This record gives sequence, C-alpha cells and structure tokens, in this order.
Amino acid sequence: MKQTILTGLRPTGNLHLGHYFGAGQNWTKLQDDYDFYLEIADVQALTDNFDNPEKVRKNVYEITKDLLAIGIDPNKVHLFIQSKIPEIAELTVFYSNLVTVARLQRNPTVKTEISQKKELFGNNGESITYGFLGYPVSQAADITAFDGEVVPVGDDQLPLLEQCREIVRKFNSIYGEVLKEPQQVLSKTTRVKGLDGNEKMGKSLGNAVYLVDDEETIKEKIMGAVTDSNKIKKDDPANPDVCMVYYYHKLVNNEENVNTICSECKKGSRGCVQCKKELIEAMKEFLQPIQERRKFYEDNPDEVDRILKEGTEAARSKAIEQMAKVRKAMKIDY
Ligand code: ATP
Ligand code: MG
Repeated sequence: MKQTILTGLRPTGNLHLGHYFGAGQNWTKLQDDYDFYLEIADVQALTDNFDNPEKVRKNVYEITKDLLAIGIDPNKVHLFIQSKIPEIAELTVFYSNLVTVARLQRNPTVKTEISQKKELFGNNGESITYGFLGYPVSQAADITAFDGEVVPVGDDQLPLLEQCREIVRKFNSIYGEVLKEPQQVLSKTTRVKGLDGNEKMGKSLGNAVYLVDDEETIKEKIMGAVTDSNKIKKDDPANPDVCMVYYYHKLVNNEENVNTICSECKKGSRGCVQCKKELIEAMKEFLQPIQERRKFYEDNPDEVDRILKEGTEAARSKAIEQMAKVRKAMKIDY
C-alpha cells in the first residue's frame, strides 16, 4: 500500500521560483509513488491575513492554477481547500490541550515569523494572536487528519514537524496508539536565493520571480540582478560563484550552457549584459510550458472548480475516517 503524504501551501500569493525549486518540483516527482494530499491552507493563511479575506480567497484559485501549471496531476493528487475540512478545526481544538503556550513561543519557526511581522504582532511579539501562535497545532492537525506518514518540507519547516511529533506522542500516551509520527523528506534544494543576492527568495522580501511573470517583468528583474562586484569592465575575469545570474543559469539552463558560461566568465570573455540576456531567454524557455498549462486553467475555470471539489471530497472522507478513531480514543464518540 502507498504511504500517505500531506503537504500544503498558504494561499497568500502566486508561486515563485523558490516555491518551485524548494518544494513544488519535488512534489511533482513524489505524486507517482504516494497517496498525496495537497492542502491549500486558507485557514492558516487567515492567521496573519484575517483582515484581508479577499486576498486569501483570490489566492486559493491563483495557487491552485499555479500548482496545476507546474504539473501537479489532479488524477494522482487530492488537491483540497483546508476550510472545507471541519475535522481539521475539530482536531486542532483537541490538540490545543496537549501543547503549552511556552513551547509554542519557543518554536524557532514561529519565533522567526513573529519577528518578521512586527506591524501585525508588535516589536517584541507582544500583540501576537492566539490563532497565529497556535498555527503549528493546526498544522499538526492538518498532517494527522489524513494519517500523514511523510511530509516533504523545507529546512525552515522542520521545527513545525517536530512540534507535530510531540503532539502525536502526547496524544498516543494518553489516549492510546492511534496516530502515526510523520517522517520528513527534505527537498534537494532547500533554499533558493533571490536575484538580489539575498539568501532567500521570498514574497515579502520583494525579490521573487513568479511563475506567472511576463517577459517584461522577467527582463526587468534579471537586468537588475546582482553580479560579481569586483568585475568592473566587460572583459574582466570574474567569479561566477558570487554571481546571481550564474546561480539562476544553473537552475534553469542546460548543463552544457552552464559549463560554457562558467568558463567564459572566469576567463573574462563574457560580459554581464550578454549573460543576463541569455538568462532572460533561458528563463522564458523554462517558464513557457508552465505558463501554457496555466493558460488552459485560466480559460477553463470550471475545470479548476471541479478539481478542487473532487480533491476536497476525497480529503474529507479520509479525515472523517480518521476523526472517528480519534473520537473513539478520546471517549467522545457519542
Ligand atoms: P512570505 O515572504 O510571505 O513568508 P514566502 O515567499 O517565504 O512568503 P511561503 O508561503 O512562506 O513563501 O513559503 C512556503 C514554503 O515554500 C516554505 O516553507 C518553504 O518550504 C518553501 N519556500 C519558500 N521560499 C523558498 C525559497 N526561496 N527556497 C526554498 N523553499 C522556499
Ligand atoms: Mg515564508
């Protein structure tokens, strides 16, 4: 029997290359071998976007189209909307008894995120909401509601998975062995850098290349990319390892071209402007099939609705089954 995977994304914006190389590409490979539940985590997105419901709603559809565009196959993956599975919310309430507030406050992922959201949660996290602090608990519910055995995660997500395992162990020790401790699979590329040289490409860092970006946008972003600052003249030799243009060639260009670019750059026989132009072409070629598939779903919104409806129905029946076991173990199966 296939093992079960649960993973998801918060619908707060379109997918960028960081999501693709850090997660999505890996999912398209895993979808053949696992019983795969892919959650559009709208409830979780609301924890820090509760005042902007339009944004979350719009991005449920944006992200669904992006996922289908990168090759998530709805015949293999149950693509579903979190808020349509009330069992997750129910499980979250029960789990909230099994975790201390202090433990959540110490969770490294939560700590980092609170410090990044000063506008919402105050300079020292003093205005943190109950909902945001508790999102790792709801994430534990996401995973275990589907009896998730494997969770593909980026390294930034590991503390959340550890939190989930702790809740599972606590639950099982009190109510009996019902839940499985999920295992992680780390993606090969754990962190995709930004074109600006930042260690991470991210929506809120304003340095992301989105899968939906058009030619003009791509040109503008790539022409502004960070190169070796020691290279002054066009024919100065340079160090490709500190150049973001080379870094992105490695992601989207073929091996032969990448090798040529590397040696020409080191020799000084390649100018940065030419190199950027070639990257623009390689990027366009890389994005073309993705954008073409996306166009199909943009033109056929009924198909998107159908996929979400069917995925959500499958996810719901799995969660109902799991919830029956949980309720029985907790002696609330009235
Ligand atoms: P925000 O800036 O709002 O936090 P983001 O661009 O970081 O947005 P998230 O929605 O936080 O995107 O990303 C969800 C998950 O996608 C991350 O937990 C991580 O696993 C993966 N991911 C995001 N950005 C990158 C990246 N640059 N490299 C690798 N993986 C990434
Ligand atoms: Mg993030």
